[in-house]
Formats: sequence, C-alpha cells, structure tokens
Amino acid sequence: MSVTPSSAPSKAQKLSAVKGMNDILPAAVPRTEKLPSSERWQWFESAVRKVLARYGYQYLLTPVVEPTALFVRGLGEVTDIVEKEMYSFTDAMNGDQLTLRPEGTAGVVRAMIEHNALYNGPLRLWTAGPMFRHERPQKGRYRQFHQLDVEALGFAGPDVDAEMILVARALWRELGLVEGQHVRLEINSLGQSAERRAHRDALVRYFEDHADALDEDARRRLHSNPLRILDSKNPAMQALIEAAPQLMDFLGAESRAHFDAVRAALDAVGLAYRINPRLVRGMDYYNLTVFEWVTDQLGSQGTVCGGGRYDGLIAQLGGKSAPAVGFGLGIERLLLLAQELDLPMPSSAADAYAVVPPGTPLAPVVATLEALRAQGVRVIQHAGSADGVGSMKSQFKKADASGARHALVFGSEELARGQVLVKALRDGSGAQVERSLADVAQWAATLQSNA
Ligand code: ATP
Ligand code: MG
Repeated sequence: MSVTPSSAPSKAQKLSAVKGMNDILPAAVPRTEKLPSSERWQWFESAVRKVLARYGYQYLLTPVVEPTALFVRGLGEVTDIVEKEMYSFTDAMNGDQLTLRPEGTAGVVRAMIEHNALYNGPLRLWTAGPMFRHERPQKGRYRQFHQLDVEALGFAGPDVDAEMILVARALWRELGLVEGQHVRLEINSLGQSAERRAHRDALVRYFEDHADALDEDARRRLHSNPLRILDSKNPAMQALIEAAPQLMDFLGAESRAHFDAVRAALDAVGLAYRINPRLVRGMDYYNLTVFEWVTDQLGSQGTVCGGGRYDGLIAQLGGKSAPAVGFGLGIERLLLLAQELDLPMPSSAADAYAVVPPGTPLAPVVATLEALRAQGVRVIQHAGSADGVGSMKSQFKKADASGARHALVFGSEELARGQVLVKALRDGSGAQVERSLADVAQWAATLQSNA
C-alpha cells in the first residue's frame, strides 16, 4: 500500500506511538510514563544471557508475524488471547491471514517442528522480544510488551519442571531480587485431561446439588464453564467455593508422583512455594506442573513470570508427539519491580569525557580517543557544531553531566608537549596528571573503573 500525499500527516501534525506501545528510552531522556529505562533493559538482558548460559539454554529468534492459524490451533479457540486480544490482519498483497505474535511458545514450537530439530534429541531454548495483545493499557499491561521465553522441548521428567523454576530463581538472584520477599512462587498441578474432566464433572454435580446457593453468574456458567465459578468474587459464595471438589484430589498416581518429584527438587534447594489449587494458566495447552512467580508490589498486574508443562502442544501443531515445559516472563513488569525496589545496577557512565578547547587541531584528539577505545575505555568526545565547539566552561558542565569519572583536556600547551591532561571528576580530589599521547596503551587502564 503506498502512502498518498493526502493520507500523509501534515508537516505540523505531531505523530505519536500507537496507544499501549512504548518507547524504551535512556534515563537521560525525560520520560512521561513510568517505564524502565533502556539502561535497566540492558542490565536485565545481560543477566539473562549469563544465567541461561549457566543452564545450557540456546538462543533463537523467530518472526514477530506468524500465520493466524498457529495461535488459534496452539492456544485454543476459547482463550482470552484468541477470542479478543490478537492483532490479526489480512496481508493485502496475497490475502494471507497473519497475526502479530501474542506469546512466544507457539512460534518456538512451530520453528522446531519445521526444522525437524527434535529428531536429534531434546532441546533447551530461549528467546525474547515483543509480543502484542489488544488489552486495556495500564501500569504493567501494554499492547506491545516484551517477554523472555524459556522452553525445554522433549523432556518428560519432573527434573526439568524444577529446572525451569530454578532458572527463574537464578535470574532473580542475579538481579538482586529476593525470593519469598520480592517475588513468591506458586505452583499447582493440572493433571492430565481425563483427570481434569473427572474433576469438572464432580464440580458440576457439586454445584447442581447446591443450585439454590448459586448467584446468577454462577448459574449461567454451571454448564458452559464451571471452573470459572471458582473465580467468583461474590462474598456470599465463598464458603461454597471453599468446599468445592479440588482438582488435586482427582489426580491419579502418575500425576501425583510427578508433582511430588517437582516439590522434592524444590525442597532440596530450600525454595519455598505455595500450592495454589486455583492456579490455572490462560492457555489450553498446559498439563501437570504449572507455576507463577508473583509480586505484591505491582498492584493487580502481579504475575511477573508464568509457565508450566505443555506435553500436548507439539503434536497439536503437527509435530511428532513430544513433551515440553517452559515459561514466559513479562520484561516490563519485572523491570517496573526492579525500578520500584531501586535494585542496584552497574553504572553505564563513560570512563572519560574529552574536553576539546576551541581551535584545537582534530587529528591528535581523534587518534588518542580511538587508541583509548581500542583498549576498551569508554570515552565520549565533546563534539562541536559547525561553528566551533563551545566554551571550556560549557564543556566541563557536559563532562560533569555525563557522569564520566575523568575529563581528558586537550589543551594547546599540553598538546605541544605531546601530552593530554587527565582530570579526576568524581573522587573529590580534582587530581590532575599529564599522560603521553605516544603510549596510550600504557595508561588507558587507569581510566577504567575496574582498574
Ligand atoms: P495476565 O493474567 O496478567 O493477563 P497472562 O496469564 O495473560 O497474564 P501469560 O500469557 O502467561 O500472561 O504471559 C507471561 C507473562 O507476560 C505474564 O506473567 C506477564 O508478566 C506478562 N504479560 C502478559 N500480558 C502482558 C501485557 N499485556 N503487558 C505486559 N506484560 C504482560
Ligand atoms: Mg492476559
């Protein structure tokens, strides 16, 4: 589709991002929304890379756009996401039905099926990126948001369920979040579908036996979606709901053993959790273990990470049947939490800021700064406009504002002697030393914070 002049915005018209979709900006840019800075984002990303490498997970990327059918088949037609949250559209060029991915698992599974990846054995994978859901935007809930997705495909044992949970815990520890205080673990077992059916039947019988105690909503849901009655907020029905049959009591020996083994692994490493019998997941494809990491500090958007086992999905999407387990972590939510708790992160400030007095020849400056950067020093050059580079005073102000720990002053006298002046900006000493331009590699490390 071409943009015709009439549909192009007039020059004066201000363009803004789509509602519910955010720019993630450096802390130095004044931000209206209370979203995490891009520095926080990078802090998180490097922790993720470190932690996932420790557990042997491999990185992959899949497209942001997938055939709509992938999500309809993968997530189930009667889920919130498929019913009302997907950005779906017809490709104007060829009529294909496409969807901006609302979650990461379906795409990863599609890719592994497409590339026959599971024939060589099970796989540990992770990916991260933007997801899209048409929801009502609010704090911690956006229309474009980002997820970290961790998936283990082809593993049937409860050891991997526990590993998933521990990967998340390792990430909390790397970031400085305290489990049990900042984030808490809730787990449940959904059993297998036959067990869920037996529970559902018992639930319907139970509520039928107490039909006179049901409110109008509950009566309407009794046969269409009896599980939803358990979510009722009506105080008059709480006692009835408390005493309703619980899925846990319908689990067979195998499901029970699987759950017990996951619990034993968590107990072995001293990880506390709450068994939450009401914990179900939004997607149809989950079975056995489900878990969520929740926080009390983000209001109603309290789930930062959710996952579980989905043994049926690979076959459902056309692959050779194989078990799998995974989780999705909401990056914005996690970083809002990190921001609220003001978790410490390494400074992203430069090591040095180069002050270049007006009239300084450019050649020795550029050569010196490039030599420093080649040694790994983070150095910002005061770059001027066409009409000169600004007064020393304004350059020192910029040097200060940059957070750099040193100023490199390329004064003409020093340059004439083949030297540059290195001035300490942060330690209160104001110490100055001259350094030779001829042997930058000899002193470069003295500018670095870890030196
Ligand atoms: P919720 O109950 O909050 O809608 P969900 O069950 O729909 O969450 P999942 O599909 O399990 O969420 O996605 C995994 C994680 O992604 C969530 O735990 C949450 O941290 C994050 N997340 C989900 N939807 C959004 C959104 N619209 N904006 C920001 N983060 C989100
Ligand atoms: Mg949701």
